[in-house]
Amino acid sequence: MSSTPQPIRGMQSLIGEEVDRFHAVVAAFDRVRRLYGFKRVEVPILESTAVFARTMGETTDVVSKEMYSFQDRSGDPVTMRPEFTAGIARAYLSEGWQRFAPLKVATHGPAFRYERPQKGRFRQFHQLDAEVLGSADPQSDVELLAFADQLLRELGIGGVSLQLNTLGDGASRDAWRTLLIDYFAAHRSELSEDSQDRLERNPLRILDSKDPRDRPFAEAAPVMTLTAEAEDFFAQVRAGLDAAGVAYQLAPHLVRGLDYYRHTAFEFVTDRLGAQGTVLAGGRYDGLIEQLGGAHTPAVGWAAGIERLSMLIDAPAPDSLDVAIVIEDDGRMADGWSAASALRDAGLSVELVASGSPRKRFDRAVKKGAAEIVVLGTQDGRPTRRIKAGGESRAQAVLGD
Ligand code: ATP
Ligand code: MG
Repeated sequence: MSSTPQPIRGMQSLIGEEVDRFHAVVAAFDRVRRLYGFKRVEVPILESTAVFARTMGETTDVVSKEMYSFQDRSGDPVTMRPEFTAGIARAYLSEGWQRFAPLKVATHGPAFRYERPQKGRFRQFHQLDAEVLGSADPQSDVELLAFADQLLRELGIGGVSLQLNTLGDGASRDAWRTLLIDYFAAHRSELSEDSQDRLERNPLRILDSKDPRDRPFAEAAPVMTLTAEAEDFFAQVRAGLDAAGVAYQLAPHLVRGLDYYRHTAFEFVTDRLGAQGTVLAGGRYDGLIEQLGGAHTPAVGWAAGIERLSMLIDAPAPDSLDVAIVIEDDGRMADGWSAASALRDAGLSVELVASGSPRKRFDRAVKKGAAEIVVLGTQDGRPTRRIKAGGESRAQAVLGD
């Protein structure tokens, strides 16, 4: 006997309550993004590898270890997107989306990272994504954070806190980098191998390390000294959040894994998902579009893991069935189809129960939980119709007498 094919590790197939939760998250996202005037866009799953390598930084875990990269049949290096931001920035340049600047966009879909699968961590996962491109205004950061905050409230996800930091502008970030290298170098031998390795190249990443050997040093590391300009920008973001009623905690050691962040950086974190507690994260990436060869274009955005959000919400009510049509006598099948068409055209959900022993069909219709049951039968050679409805029958109104 040949064995049946198995799914690829870290890639899920969903049914039932799990998929209902997933789509409840997407539906809430689509409702809330309209409230904030974010336009829906679509970008490809596959991009040239350079799109991600150039923007996310060769020294990041995503680019160095996690990407699904391969050569297509023409030998071109391509990568399945590990996130949305780089692809949206690419489209902004190659599709002329600059003409819409400042551009507020939202999208969602699958993303791929070759990581060790565990609770809340998959190799194919799905993100919600929201970005504002071509805006240097701190009010854009505020708007995105208010959007995220409202989304989490609409999903009924409590116990999530917004951790907020600034990574400063280029000048404050460079000075901080030098400080961090000196500080971590003094503790080099006590750090994890990964962190020793990235000490000179990407010391900010050590702050983000999950390795317990790095944590004490990450927590005691020097914090950034901001330039007056960066200080002012951050003050405006905080004032806007206060005015919009978005609560946050300052997190001076919060960095984002990717190289392109400047100024605002943030994460919405819960303690309900173990080590996978970050449900939504993002920040300002003023340098990214330049790294792709475009003009200086300030931008800010966030992404959220749909699976992680799904795990935190209550199961939505399952789809309801308005009408079940029971075909008591197989000779009434054609009438069943025409009644079903009329009811569906009127916007009612309908299932036909027309197989198995005729005596059991009514019980099967009851089990489906239909609000109304229409029974089509025959008596003394004449067609009959009975309707069982709790109150006034919607089926009767559509089908007539
Ligand atoms: P983590 O620290 O958990 O690895 P990250 O910093 O790599 O997260 P981002 O690149 O900021 O994650 O992606 C944004 C969001 O996408 C995360 O906050 C998380 O909710 C989700 N996410 C990222 N990687 C995965 C994954 N492998 N499986 C499921 N969700 C993920
Ligand atoms: Mg990660």
